[in-house]
Amino acid sequence: MAGAAPKLAFDNGGAFIRDTRAEVEAYLARGSTRLRGAILLYAKAPIALALTAVSWSVLIFVQPGVIVGLLCLVGLVLGAMLTAFCVQHDANHGSYFKQRRWNHLVGWSTDSLLGFSSYAWRVKHNVAHHTYTNVDGYDDDATQVPLARFAPSQPSRPWYRFQQYYIWPMYTLMGLRWQTVGDLHAFRRGTVGESTLKRPSGWTLFGVVAGKAFFITWAIVVPLLVYPWWGVLAAYVFFTMITSLIMATTFQLAHCVEEASFASADELRADRRIWAVHEVETTVDFCPRNPVLTWMLGGLNFQIEHHLFPKVPHTHYPKIAEIVRRNCVKHDVRYSFHPSLGRALRSHFLHLREMGRLGLPPEIEMG
Ligand SMILES: [Zn+2]
Repeated sequence: MAGAAPKLAFDNGGAFIRDTRAEVEAYLARGSTRLRGAILLYAKAPIALALTAVSWSVLIFVQPGVIVGLLCLVGLVLGAMLTAFCVQHDANHGSYFKQRRWNHLVGWSTDSLLGFSSYAWRVKHNVAHHTYTNVDGYDDDATQVPLARFAPSQPSRPWYRFQQYYIWPMYTLMGLRWQTVGDLHAFRRGTVGESTLKRPSGWTLFGVVAGKAFFITWAIVVPLLVYPWWGVLAAYVFFTMITSLIMATTFQLAHCVEEASFASADELRADRRIWAVHEVETTVDFCPRNPVLTWMLGGLNFQIEHHLFPKVPHTHYPKIAEIVRRNCVKHDVRYSFHPSLGRALRSHFLHLREMGRLGLPPEIEMG
């Protein structure tokens, strides 16, 4: 097992997070606020599950024509999106229940319905990404070298000049990679980014194996009993590529844009930062006034609030955003957001283009 690099340290306190936390706690303690947020959160799991179960059952037991079949596939994609953004993400952060085991049980929907390990996700996402957001080499989401360059501290390569175009097909393949070899490679390496990932054992190992078996059974084995192999393959690839593209893009719009800052480990060691300020300045919200998108994305368009309060159900984020924004102004912390999806996508595209050109010979860099 590879050893993890020395830990990077942040300062955990500061007036900004102290004041913000106090206001957020006062908001959550008000009347039935917590209960209302929990009910709104819990309501999403049956919707996600029903969408998936009904779409799958019609495909398997009714075997409809092309039009209804495609609608069922769209239903499966929507069910997977809701599971990813509104169920497993909250549960694996521990915001569904007080007890860890129940959160892990609901978080197992990652294994059973999305096809990758919730155990590996908790290290990749909760530890590597949430602790070291946009830190080169430490945040797995910000490190895709030598395929793409997201951060200025990563070395330049001639092919990155075209990354703003080829990144999209790359995003469609990420889910496929995690469903097949990604988890296994991470277990063998023993690390995600620079965070330690212990080999699963006991109940954790059972969860990993049973989850993979469950996913392969409903997504591949049972469909093969009623459809030709090429139909199953086409449907599986479509389902995985579309869900992967939506998931990767959603996460990237919050961190891999012009307004977000990046850091290398050396920079952080030389200039120790306040963690809460680092999180706000490496993250960007988008479409904060779009309630439909907010509902669909499980509040992941409010990632600043999510990074500051990952254990609070996402149904509270629009309200918490008002508190965070106010305190950012008060404490002179840079708070960025994109008012529309188009502006966020444009900023992601321009950031990739800038990173692709940075460090190339001037005639190419300027071109
Ligand atoms: Zn998260």
